[in-house]
Amino acid sequence: MPKKVNVICTNCPMGCGITLTVDEKSDEVINIEGNKCKQGKEYALAEYKNPVRVLTATVRTNSLENPLLPVRTDKPVPRDKMKEMMYVVARVNVKKPVQLGQVVEQNIMGMDVNLIATENLT
Ligand code: SF4
Repeated sequence: MPKKVNVICTNCPMGCGITLTVDEKSDEVINIEGNKCKQGKEYALAEYKNPVRVLTATVRTNSLENPLLPVRTDKPVPRDKMKEMMYVVARVNVKKPVQLGQVVEQNIMGMDVNLIATENLT
């Protein structure tokens, strides 16, 4: 019996609602509809097979004026790794000065993903 999976494409402001029909036994995607372009089809497939997100957070600093620094990963990470990664990020402590875009933690969890500052810390 096929199941329906709904995905909202975030590739552009149109925000198309896309429905995937998936064979429950084989987990194969049988049909994709609702996308207005090829990009949406690729997005929906990736979202179903391996959803990824850029992780955004804050890390502690040694600054009394700005005790938290906003950061993000430099590439999307698998959603099922986000929670584990948040525990790692929660232990990061940076010393000023930090420049916007500077790597504050390298190769998190050996995944070739870096944490970068999204603000200056002076
Ligand atoms: S399917 Fe195409 S048109 Fe629709 S939101 Fe995605 S990228 Fe935009």
